[in-house]
Amino acid sequence: AKQSGRNTFQLYTLELNQALKKRIEIEYSLRHAIENEEFLLYFQPKINLATGKLCGAEALIRWQPKDGPLISPLSFIPVAEETGQIEALGRWVLGNACRAANQFSQLLGKPFSVAVNVSPRQFRHCDLVSTVEQVIKDTNVNPGCLELEITESCLVHDTPAFIKTLHDLKSLGLTLAIDDFGTGYSSMAYLKDFPVDRLKIDKAFVGNLENEPANVAILKAIIALGHSFGLKVVAEGVETAYQQAYLHGMGCDELQGYYFSKPLPLADFLLILKK
Ligand code: C2E
Ligand code: CA
Ligand code: CA
Ligand code: CA
Repeated sequence: AKQSGRNTFQLYTLELNQALKKRIEIEYSLRHAIENEEFLLYFQPKINLATGKLCGAEALIRWQPKDGPLISPLSFIPVAEETGQIEALGRWVLGNACRAANQFSQLLGKPFSVAVNVSPRQFRHCDLVSTVEQVIKDTNVNPGCLELEITESCLVHDTPAFIKTLHDLKSLGLTLAIDDFGTGYSSMAYLKDFPVDRLKIDKAFVGNLENEPANVAILKAIIALGHSFGLKVVAEGVETAYQQAYLHGMGCDELQGYYFSKPLPLADFLLILKK
């Protein structure tokens, strides 16, 4: 038992070292990637359930190294968040999302909203309000075409300063969404103090709604909660016609998921907009 204990320990240390090495590698190559702008935004359509029409898009970052496959945000956003690189990356995302919103709106001849993910660190460490204000000025975007998605983990800081930041952001004319709603551990009492426009239900509750009666109960409760606060409710991760029909029946407002479309490169998104 002692022997195997030691082996387990060695294995654990080895894995830790490998994880650390990987993290340092990502941090190092991210620095160059930011300098060389090796990033792309993909856009995933959002569908209004009442009209069945496209009603906006979420911008999702991808890392495209010079030679190599596309890298998922799940493997570099957490590192960028830890190292602070998210601040530069976040500014890049904001600027490009606003330019895309301009392009989409121009093509459609009416305002088209693009949602951007904002990390907790962007809230805490940089002056998010003046950054966003500057980006709006620089890109001349209609601020009503910009939505910021903040996760519940941001919201545990329900301090007066944090609530003021949300109000300051809103006063720029943009909209706010709470992302991954239902997965955090924070109290939902904050909803009454927070000037948000949308709740995005985490895909964990949507993905297996066919086989999970508990998820149906959670979805119903979240939709009712959102509506009672006057918020639009969006379900993400919709993959089947059954899920669409079920969410429609439950009164969900907007849907997003592979059933409609995967996130698309800009050129492909422009093609579906023209249709
Ligand atoms: P998220 O904000 O919850 O974004 C939704 C994720 O679900 C996206 O993954 C999207 O591609 C994926 N998805 C959409 N529809 C479906 C579906 O029907 N089924 C399944 N299984 N998945 C679906 P993605 O693009 O890999 O992004 C992962 C996460 O990375 C995002 O989760 C977000 O937290 C973060 N992220 C992405 N772009 C940015 C960014 O520009 N800034 C920051 N701070 N975070 C970002
Ligand atoms: Ca999101
Ligand atoms: Ca989400
Ligand atoms: Ca997420």
